[in-house]
Amino acid sequence: MKIAFFGADGKVGRALLPVLERAGHEVRGIEIGEEPDVAGLAAAVDFTTPAAAPANVRAALEQGVSCVVGTTGWDPHELGENARERGLRLFVAPNFSLGAVLMMRFAEQAAQYFPRAEIIELHNEAKQDAPSGTARATANRIGGDPVIHSVRLPGLVAHQEVIFGGEGQLLTIRHDTTARESFADGVLLALDKLSELPPGLTVGLDALL
Ligand code: NAP
Repeated sequence: MKIAFFGADGKVGRALLPVLERAGHEVRGIEIGEEPDVAGLAAAVDFTTPAAAPANVRAALEQGVSCVVGTTGWDPHELGENARERGLRLFVAPNFSLGAVLMMRFAEQAAQYFPRAEIIELHNEAKQDAPSGTARATANRIGGDPVIHSVRLPGLVAHQEVIFGGEGQLLTIRHDTTARESFADGVLLALDKLSELPPGLTVGLDALL
């Protein structure tokens, strides 16, 4: 597929571009300040910032291009409606790593059996939003409004623990992303399935598995 990549020079972009190209995609990287000319491309991928992503997605939709978005910390619902009206897809995932999606699934299952849970999410200090999109998505899935602790330190990539407490026992479900290449499988899957999704907004890799 011929695709655009907003944020190609970012940490995620630099890790994903070679993997997308090895998978056979032709990738046009679009940098900050560059005219977002994406007309005629099959999809646009965005890993930028919460401030930049909405304008990038809007520009792509206005040019008739469906989007796959990993940027967290913004509300995609209005643009999802915009996409639906145009017969386009807006796929947004708070986490493109398969292990993290399974961590959320297992946490949802465990929540049926434990009265209390808290979430600790740990990310690199450069991450702008807190709590992370993955932590908020996990909290929604397990219910009961669990406390979320956010840690931002150099040396971290993306990590999350969900700790369940019960009478005389603890259960910890933990996922560690040790390299950003872990997001590639999810992005490739989203690009592959994009045209099969209903027009409008779809959230989460779970919807594709
Ligand atoms: P990053 O290293 O800061 O990269 C963001 C890149 O976007 C930078 O190169 C930045 O350029 C560029 N940028 C900013 N505004 C732009 C615009 N208007 N058009 C095009 N490019 C623009 O951040 P990152 O670690 O790659 O993460 C990017 C986003 O993805 C964050 O929101 C992060 O939370 C999210 N993320 C999501 C997942 C997931 O699985 N869903 C995984 C990891 C990260 P400058 O440096 O010049 O400003």
